[in-house]
Amino acid sequence: MLPEIEKLLVLQDRDRNIRALKNELKVAPLERVESEERLAAATRQLDAVKLKAKEIEVEKKKLELEAQSKRDMIAKFQTQKFQTRKNEEFQAFNNEITRYEGEIRTVEDRELELMDDAEKMKATVAATEQQTKAVKAQVERQLADIAAKIDAVAAQLTELETERAGLTAGLDEDLLDTFDRLFAGKGEAVVALEHETCTGCHMKVTTQTVVKVKGQREIVHCEQCGRILYRGE
Ligand SMILES: [Zn+2]
Repeated sequence: MLPEIEKLLVLQDRDRNIRALKNELKVAPLERVESEERLAAATRQLDAVKLKAKEIEVEKKKLELEAQSKRDMIAKFQTQKFQTRKNEEFQAFNNEITRYEGEIRTVEDRELELMDDAEKMKATVAATEQQTKAVKAQVERQLADIAAKIDAVAAQLTELETERAGLTAGLDEDLLDTFDRLFAGKGEAVVALEHETCTGCHMKVTTQTVVKVKGQREIVHCEQCGRILYRGE
């Protein structure tokens, strides 16, 4: 094998790793955002449940006050009805008292329902708090893992890039430019010629190209895709 091809194959191997690491670095912040979003969603859910519980308490309080003011009215009517001497007034007070008593029963029924709802919401809030706590712990672990991964990948990348710089030393500049352009544009720059076919574009090459590749005396390109060819099987 041509020494240049050997060097380019090593270089290509490192460049593949560099590309994979750079991709990991690009994806990591997205993973972080995803984790943070999960926690934000769990927190929003908890806030909503707590708000609902609070609304129930507020309505319960309102109904308690309503029932109390109706009881106060009844007490007032009870006093007033014994102060009147007119029969129809006495009856009118009694009617009002009966009406208020009916209203109080309705309010108290609703209060009982709300007490039931409040109990259920209390359990829901407790369960949601537990869930949110679990999600928070999980997300914190994920974020720590992501941060550690970013550090490790960045360190590996620095190491590989230093190694790559050493590998390019002594290589012809034009050849290196061609290699870089092919690698960036086509994903692979140096590919094997197998059964007279370029394994980069899967096209058959000319007999002349096959002879040149087999001769291993010069850099030969696939005439279809331009990739650098080396002798495969
Ligand atoms: Zn090709």
